[in-house]
Amino acid sequence: MQATKDTLSLIGNTPLVRLKGPSAESGCEIFAKCEFANPGASVKDRAALYIVEDAEERGQIAPGGTIVEGTAGNTGIGLALVANAKGYKTIIVMPETQSREKMDTLRALGAELVLVPAAPYSNPGHFVHTSRRIAEETPNAIWANQFDNIANRKAHIAGTAEEIWEQMEGRIDGFTCAAGTGGTIAGVGLGLKGKDEKITIALSDPHGAALYSYYACGELKSEGSSVAEGIGQGRITANLEGAPIDTQFRISDEEGMEWVRRLLAEEGLCLGLSSGINVAGAVALGKELGPGKRIATILCDTGFRYLSTLYNREWLETKGLSVPEWMAR
Ligand code: PMP
Repeated sequence: MQATKDTLSLIGNTPLVRLKGPSAESGCEIFAKCEFANPGASVKDRAALYIVEDAEERGQIAPGGTIVEGTAGNTGIGLALVANAKGYKTIIVMPETQSREKMDTLRALGAELVLVPAAPYSNPGHFVHTSRRIAEETPNAIWANQFDNIANRKAHIAGTAEEIWEQMEGRIDGFTCAAGTGGTIAGVGLGLKGKDEKITIALSDPHGAALYSYYACGELKSEGSSVAEGIGQGRITANLEGAPIDTQFRISDEEGMEWVRRLLAEEGLCLGLSSGINVAGAVALGKELGPGKRIATILCDTGFRYLSTLYNREWLETKGLSVPEWMAR
């Protein structure tokens, strides 16, 4: 492999891995994009780079400028490293409920971190609205606006979808993942449908999100809750508009955690809960499409970002999630 020309060229072109357990369980061939292999260790590096370069092309940001964003953490990490590589500053607004590791990583990258209480989207104190206000009040700043800035999904149309198509050698029957901003599902969905209309695009929605009911019956309605970070959307963001969703699954945290544990114990992958939910969704899609089908999904980030939560016995107990036998010892 040749040397890349700079750090930002390390974003994207992630490996695709065949998952043994999920393939055996579903009778299908299940493949997953290793987005933890991005320099910021998540799928959001892709959107961060696209959003910043789109703003540069539009002349919205100049050297020394500031990028402001509201994020569950991973987009902030992606933006901070893109900003460092390009000479910008970052101000990141994050709900205080996100993992300690994400906060430490953002501070280590030099971002200015603003923590706000978790609040519904309708509340003006919600992290998204707070970040917009800070961007308006800060000189030479842009608001990345990942939820409604479609540069986000363009990263997945041009990057993730193309890569999946090539890595699967054009033999793919279905794709599924969960939605935070919706950039990944909409972008990969649009990109793959552009290659072959027959590819089934499925949303894997956690509890507490409203998209499952929206795509099932046209009504934004949520039920229950989830501890998964970075996913679970209550509205149709600009990135989700026109997303070609054919079918949808509602996946519980326990189902997602079951796959997080199995992938760790059986395949040596240390992942976060959104990855577990995506894999549970891929198994469900495989069972729906039938034996032998080829399905792709996303491993969104690394489990090392959740050592104090998903991989911590006390935390699991406080959240009422089951503690694996090896952790209880
Ligand atoms: N998983 C994790 C851990 C994330 O941080 C995000 C981004 N919010 C997602 C999944 C969802 O990606 P998207 O925003 O593209 O829907």
